[in-house]
Amino acid sequence: MSAYALASLLHEGKAKRVHATDRPDLVAVEFKDDATAFNALKKAQLSGKGWHNCQISALLFEQLASQDIPTHYRGLAEAEHGGNWMLVRPVRIIPIEVVIRNRAAGSLCRQMPIHAGTPLEPPLLDLYYKDDGLGDPLLTEARLERLALLTAEERADVERLAREVNTALVKVFDRVGLILVDFKIELGYTADGQLVVADEISPDTCRLWDRAVEDVNERILDKDRFRQDLGGVVEAYGQVLKRLQGVCPEPLIYR
Ligand code: UDP
Repeated sequence: MSAYALASLLHEGKAKRVHATDRPDLVAVEFKDDATAFNALKKAQLSGKGWHNCQISALLFEQLASQDIPTHYRGLAEAEHGGNWMLVRPVRIIPIEVVIRNRAAGSLCRQMPIHAGTPLEPPLLDLYYKDDGLGDPLLTEARLERLALLTAEERADVERLAREVNTALVKVFDRVGLILVDFKIELGYTADGQLVVADEISPDTCRLWDRAVEDVNERILDKDRFRQDLGGVVEAYGQVLKRLQGVCPEPLIYR
């Protein structure tokens, strides 16, 4: 018997559903096979995507925890649930997407005169307002202040934590021959006021390039395969998982 029982659906997003459990300190996240891009203008069902993203996120959250970086992750659900369920602590998500870029790609190259792949040292940190209706706009200092979502101290904490996440992730991906080009994370506060990394960390939210591959399309092992119609999306996510499994312990099953 599990230590928890699933309860009502709390929230359904583009890639995940969040369910309550019978315990106030635990919610269950179900990773879906729905793929969306360009603010959901492009949509598809990719069988196995949810499973891969759940497993990859679990391994990465555990890597962060091993570096004393706090996350919402508590463990995977038992295998009988299908492998795309994760148990996490409930958090109040800050409606800001934090993007860290180690190399130029994506929107940065559309908005600035910079070639894809250009190393960015120190890594560039961009904040976006999390609002699909508005298209997740890039925040300026003044707009961030006007929104008053964070105090100056909270913002400094968010940026410090995001940079720590970047350092830890760059290291783990480097060990498996992958370049972490950029990624987006979401952060939130637990009931006791702790700032933690939440949401997911997966090839849906990271750009990952195979270091050993020269070809600019072949090297892509992330959602850009879907965005650019390159095919082999879930296969690429499978590559990422397989490599991480080679250096990470088996993920925890929450019981
Ligand atoms: N990203 C994300 N969700 C978003 C926007 C971006 O996970 O709503 C990730 C994206 O996969 C990439 C990084 O954040 O790894 C930077 O994305 P960028 O700003 O370049 O936007 P894009 O080119 O994806 O529109």
